[in-house]
Amino acid sequence: MLAVIAHRGASGYLPEHTLPAKAMAYAMGADFLEQDVVATRDDELVVLHDIHLDRVTDVAARYPGRARADGRYYVRDFDVAEIRTLSVTERLDEDGQPVYPGRFPPHSGRFAVHTLAEELVLVAGLNRATGGNTGVYPEIKRPAWHLEQGIDITAAMTEVLAAHGYTGPEDAIFVQCFDAGELVRVRHELGCQVRLVQLIGENSWGESDTDYEYLRTESGLAELARSVDAIGPWVNQLYTAGTADGLPRSSGLTERAHNAGLLVHPYTFRRDDLAPGFGSFEEMVRYFCVDLAVDGLFTDFPDRVRQLLNDRADGR
Ligand code: CA
Repeated sequence: MLAVIAHRGASGYLPEHTLPAKAMAYAMGADFLEQDVVATRDDELVVLHDIHLDRVTDVAARYPGRARADGRYYVRDFDVAEIRTLSVTERLDEDGQPVYPGRFPPHSGRFAVHTLAEELVLVAGLNRATGGNTGVYPEIKRPAWHLEQGIDITAAMTEVLAAHGYTGPEDAIFVQCFDAGELVRVRHELGCQVRLVQLIGENSWGESDTDYEYLRTESGLAELARSVDAIGPWVNQLYTAGTADGLPRSSGLTERAHNAGLLVHPYTFRRDDLAPGFGSFEEMVRYFCVDLAVDGLFTDFPDRVRQLLNDRADGR
């Protein structure tokens, strides 16, 4: 069964990482809800994609003068009580324009930042009320950077997860991180037994000092398989578009990962931002699910992916 991972919630419809976006994704039948986890000044863990606040909140207007020298407002420089007063908006680019213009109108509605613990309570409550078993999919954001800022975010996060019952491989959770050394630490030093996902980026992104070129090789994947259960590659790393016959062709990474015993959960499937070479969202989802046979996918549109999978199951 392919896992539908609601990327930042149903973020195609509501501002990313807000509780309404999570509740919507839950109701749309996502298998997992994603949390990106960042630490505040008072060591609370909040659910936000960036270590900065300025692309998704009104922090610059509410707390002028609190930016660092680079002009950015850092989550780590604010107490959770201050962050709770901020209004969350649909994601904006550096010019203040919406990144996805067709989505929820920016600067409208009343949305707030919440803690990881609050989101885990929401999911547990919904699972109880519906009899479901929707999982969570938290990402440890920038662990090396957080350590420089005085907090071991990984230890803090695994503590919160354990306090909410997420401790073993049978629990409905995957923990993800771009930093390979940190996932080795989670498994072998912190003794955390939940399923782990190594995110695979490009070395040029500067996300961590992990060598992603190496991780994509047969020996890199074999090494990963000693600590983690899955890889989360960028969709573009799994295929080549525009080959002679016009069809996408596998890069071989999915097959190599499967041979190493790893699940493959690529990111990100967006109806309003298709990967190169695909004419429609349906075509893109079908290629990855049927031709490449990935094991799960991150999507901003969990309802659309769920519908396409249901249609396939019904033979439509
Ligand atoms: Ca993420």
